[in-house]
Amino acid sequence: MPYETWQQPDPLVSERGLPMQEGFVQPYSYDNLMRQFNGGKNCHHRGLDIGTVSSVSPTGSVNGGLGTPISAVTRSVVTLIGKTGGNVGEFGRLDTRSGKTVRGGRNYARSMNVPGYGLVYLFSRNYGRWRSGNVIVTKVLDGPLKDYTIRYMHMGAIRPDLKVGSIVEAGEHIAIMGSTAILDSTPHVHIDMENPKGERRDLAPYIGLPDTSLQCGGHHYEDKPPVTPKRSATVTSSKSHDASGTSTMLTPIETESDNGMIMRTLPRTERNKNDDLL
Ligand SMILES: [Zn+2]
Repeated sequence: MPYETWQQPDPLVSERGLPMQEGFVQPYSYDNLMRQFNGGKNCHHRGLDIGTVSSVSPTGSVNGGLGTPISAVTRSVVTLIGKTGGNVGEFGRLDTRSGKTVRGGRNYARSMNVPGYGLVYLFSRNYGRWRSGNVIVTKVLDGPLKDYTIRYMHMGAIRPDLKVGSIVEAGEHIAIMGSTAILDSTPHVHIDMENPKGERRDLAPYIGLPDTSLQCGGHHYEDKPPVTPKRSATVTSSKSHDASGTSTMLTPIETESDNGMIMRTLPRTERNKNDDLL
């Protein structure tokens, strides 16, 4: 199997000892959980930052855990793939220099060979408008979060055969840890979620993490489904099926500004509503 998958030690309970919602799994080890929804000092973070740890790779401590697998948290369809170095304006410029770079006070090789991916450049030289780096946007297919959007950002690379329309199962390998659009802090994956109305919600209670959304004067959301601890989450192999065969290319929208310049942007519904830190 070309793609190593992160395996949650116990599908019923997370590494934090909290119950997992049925049909959900941990996307990665929680050994280095950096920030949560509304967590931290500034209360502007509305997602999860899960930092890299070398222990998640059976192949050992290679490059500080970069290149290790990240899994989908639940069964979803891929609705958008954005690649650093592809659409540079939106997703940033890849750092293709040789040698090492520093993040969070630690040295990392800028590139490495990863099974199933080949040579991967793991860092970017700028943010891009999305400030996401490599990003996968998915729509949940079943369960209490059906039709919610879940996004994964900053990865080192996206599984090469994944495309818009691919269906990914809970626990399926979708990307590898990296540091795109992270220019200072420790490499991590940012995962966030929106309900069908486009309102940001906290994924944490579904994947065995404490609900922190009240820490900054927040309130309970009326559309927040109850989390009912459950049976075993289904973890399947990393086979994906292509639901639609649609292309992964983004289609920019062209608009004319006041001074006659043509602006090319992504559809507004897909743009990152970047009013908070990623
Ligand atoms: Zn974040």
